[in-house]
Amino acid sequence: MNLIILGLPGAGKGTQSDFIVKKYGLIHLSTGDIFRNNIRNGTTLGIKTKAYMDAGIYVPDEITNNLVAARLLQSDIKTTDFILDGYPRTIDQANFLDQTLLTIKKPILVLYLAINEQTVIDRLSSRRVCLQCGRVYNLKFSPPKINNKCDIDNQTLIQRSDDKETTIKTRLEIYKKETLPLVTYYQNKGLLKTIDANLENDKVLATIEQYLLENDNG
Ligand SMILES: [Zn+2]
Repeated sequence: MNLIILGLPGAGKGTQSDFIVKKYGLIHLSTGDIFRNNIRNGTTLGIKTKAYMDAGIYVPDEITNNLVAARLLQSDIKTTDFILDGYPRTIDQANFLDQTLLTIKKPILVLYLAINEQTVIDRLSSRRVCLQCGRVYNLKFSPPKINNKCDIDNQTLIQRSDDKETTIKTRLEIYKKETLPLVTYYQNKGLLKTIDANLENDKVLATIEQYLLENDNG
C-alpha cells in the first residue's frame, strides 16, 4: 500500500501522515525532507535546490521530480511501502511520478482530505506559538491556561506570519490553482478516495483506517 496524501494547507496532512506512518510502518516521504537531505549531502541538485529555497521561491518541477525519483529508486523502497506528502504538487509532477511508479512497479492510492476553506482559515489563523519553547497552541482547540501566555514559561504567544489570514488566503489560492486539478486527475484514474477532513481528527483517522483496511485485503 503506497499512498499520496492531498489536501489544502491546514487540512491535517501532517497529522494524518504521522499516524499512518506509525500504524502501517510506511516510509514518510516529504519533499521538504528530500530537499534537506540533498542540501546536507551537497548533491548537485541539492546545491541548486538551496539557491531556490534561500531566494524563497518554489523549487522548479524538473529538480523536484528528479530528486523524488532518485529517492524512490533507493533500495528501501523495494521492500517497504511509502506515503508521499507534499508531492506531487502539480499536474506536471503527477505525470512524471506516473513514469517513476511504472519503473519501480509500485501502485498507489490517493487520499484527498477534503475540507471547507473557512475551516482551514479558522484553524490556521487561531494558531499561536511560543518562541521561547516552541510549543504550539490553538486559541479555539487547545488554548493556553492563561490568555495569550505559554503554560510552560509564561512567555507571550505570537502569531507566525504564515498563519495570518491574508497569507493563508494567498496559500489557499496557489493550492487551488496548482494542486486541486490533481484531485480530478487521480479521480479519472480511479485512484482517489475523498475523506471528509472537516470532522475531528479522531473521526478522520477512523475513516482513513477503515478505507485502508478494505483496500489492504483487496
Ligand atoms: Zn513556552
